[in-house]
Amino acid sequence: MKVEANRQRVMLEVADVDAQIARLTREGFHLPEDGEIAELTTRIDGARDDLVRAQIAAEDIDREYRRVESEVSGMSAREKKDSELLEAGGLPSKQLSELQHEVGGLRRRRSILEDDLLELMERQEATTAEQERASATVAQLESERADVQVRRDAARATVDGKLTDAQDRRDTFLADAPDELVAIYERQRAGGKVGAGLLRQQRCGACRMELDRGTMSSIARADADEVLRCEECGALLIRTAESGLPK
Ligand SMILES: [Zn+2]
Repeated sequence: MKVEANRQRVMLEVADVDAQIARLTREGFHLPEDGEIAELTTRIDGARDDLVRAQIAAEDIDREYRRVESEVSGMSAREKKDSELLEAGGLPSKQLSELQHEVGGLRRRRSILEDDLLELMERQEATTAEQERASATVAQLESERADVQVRRDAARATVDGKLTDAQDRRDTFLADAPDELVAIYERQRAGGKVGAGLLRQQRCGACRMELDRGTMSSIARADADEVLRCEECGALLIRTAESGLPK
């Protein structure tokens, strides 16, 4: 196949822009901001778990507080009733001593429960502080994540813009490129290979394979407009002044 040497060279531009598109596509998939967002999301989930734990603990303490409180008020009522009976007087001595004993027991028990209530209040304060801390952490991390999302969107828009530019350049080069070379080039790419490479320093620019002396001398003898392919990777092997071939 023969294509004028000057017209073959546009395939190097296409290969360059395709490499650039591949690089930009990778860049778009691996934005550092996406990693930061994932890390912040993990931390937010952790802080939310802390918050839920603190809320559950607070509910447990509340329930316990109400239980003890109602026990205390039941005791107070009983004490009041007993005290009234004692004050009214006229009780047989056996009943009197039982009642006095009961009032004493109730007072001791109530005093212990009142200490429990104080301790529960302290625990409730600590749990409230923990809830506030966890909730502030969630808010802080969510705001950090929102900032990173803004940066990520901007970075993605930049990459997308560059991709659109590269795609436009590709279209322009392809409009200039000889159809028969484009066909070979696209077949190569469909096979997951590089479509074209510059011959330089005895290497194929597509697969970097060094060409042996026999191949180099047959390339040197070939007409300038002969379409050459790399024997190794099948890429269009494009010659320019950089190829270092004898004139
Ligand atoms: Zn090659």
